[in-house]
Amino acid sequence: MQDAQPKDLPHRLYKQYRFQLSATTSSLNIPKLDVDTAVSAANFDLAHPIPRRFTQMIKTHGYAAQSATTPLALFDYEHREPGPKDVHIEIDFCGICHSDIHQARNEWGNAIYPMVPGHEILGTVKQVGAEVTKFKVGDLAAIGCMVDSCRICASCKAGEEQYCDNHATVFTYNSKDKQGNLTFGGYGTNIVADESFVLKVPTNLDPAAVAPLLCAGITTYSPLKHWNAGPGKKIGVVGLGGLGHMALKFSHAFGAHTVMFTTSPGKIEDAKKLGADEVVLTKEPNWHAAHAGTFDFILDCVSADHDINPYLALLKRDAVYCTVGVPETPISVHAFSVVAGRKSVTGSAIGGIKETQEMLDFCGKHNIVSDIEMTSFDKLDEAWTRVIKGDVKYRFVLDLKSLK
Ligand code: NAP
Ligand code: ZN
Ligand code: ZN
Repeated sequence: MQDAQPKDLPHRLYKQYRFQLSATTSSLNIPKLDVDTAVSAANFDLAHPIPRRFTQMIKTHGYAAQSATTPLALFDYEHREPGPKDVHIEIDFCGICHSDIHQARNEWGNAIYPMVPGHEILGTVKQVGAEVTKFKVGDLAAIGCMVDSCRICASCKAGEEQYCDNHATVFTYNSKDKQGNLTFGGYGTNIVADESFVLKVPTNLDPAAVAPLLCAGITTYSPLKHWNAGPGKKIGVVGLGGLGHMALKFSHAFGAHTVMFTTSPGKIEDAKKLGADEVVLTKEPNWHAAHAGTFDFILDCVSADHDINPYLALLKRDAVYCTVGVPETPISVHAFSVVAGRKSVTGSAIGGIKETQEMLDFCGKHNIVSDIEMTSFDKLDEAWTRVIKGDVKYRFVLDLKSLK
């Protein structure tokens, strides 16, 4: 590795900083990554490192899971003092995503405790570092599922940080940052992140209803765009929850003929209001017969185990079935379901920062927000129970005032 020690940086601090970074990159299994390149690409402030013990950490009050089986409870913790490129946000609203529940309950097998969930974050800028250009104190700002990545690989450079080739995406919670510190999400009063991963919020929309766009919004916008949902296309959406209702709104806004597949008779009328041209109740016998071989693209937004093979029969030749839902159990595909008609089954994860900003701007322009039900931390257990039952219309949003 080349010697990148800045002239005005004491050698002892430089060595300490490099040691920390090397440890972090190797613990993340980043292959042969040149630490100095990562340091400069990530804009670490090598010239002015501040040893952690001298900093003014941001004291934060939140709710954390301490294990897979205990309910979330009050938890006090700290975020780092904002560095030169950091934005400190006081959180006003945070959406409840089904992924919060999957992770807190370790259904994906990757839980790190204590875990402060929440990646649909909307708040007000409280402090900015000296080199921040996008935000000033008092601005609305938003954070989604990521707060950093390697920034030097092909995927990061392409604006697809969620697919970082070095597996160095730092998620907003249940993840470790480049210094090895655990990240904490939006079920708390504050957050600090590099401005490159902080989004600007259209000012004409209800901020509480914007919060869910940061995950449910981008996770559905991105695949619908990628697979060209638009006029002349027939698009299916499976599961009318937080993601599903945003998929309906976007597919409709893009001009596609949109069909909702739901297990809930009580959601049929809502689905039509949200943008569905047709609604199929999948509990009815022979529900698939009328649509066989007619879809260009189907987006699966279901959180629980279900059989996707009947949906594959609804695709046209060469068409795509994409899951954004991530149930605990593996998806099972019968070979005949894809062999006949050369069909593809794939998946999609959130969306990059550039595309997330594009989605927020699109929503500002077209007046699109999430349909929300406000809730508070004293009702968190009840809210999670209702999400699991599919009984929410269509996203819970936590009001952080209930914690302050
Ligand atoms: P949600 O609000 O709970 O919605 C899930 C919907 O799935 C329910 O409303 C229900 O719709 C349907 N459903 C539930 N159980 C079902 C079952 N047993 N069989 C068939 N349908 C069922 O969840 P969400 O927050 O939208 O998240 C959905 C999934 O996406 C979760 O697994 C989440 O972790 C994942 N996710 C992935 C990404 C990504 O980047 N890929 C990002 C965010 C979330 P109906 O009542 O209409 O049937
Ligand atoms: Zn989410
Ligand atoms: Zn990367």
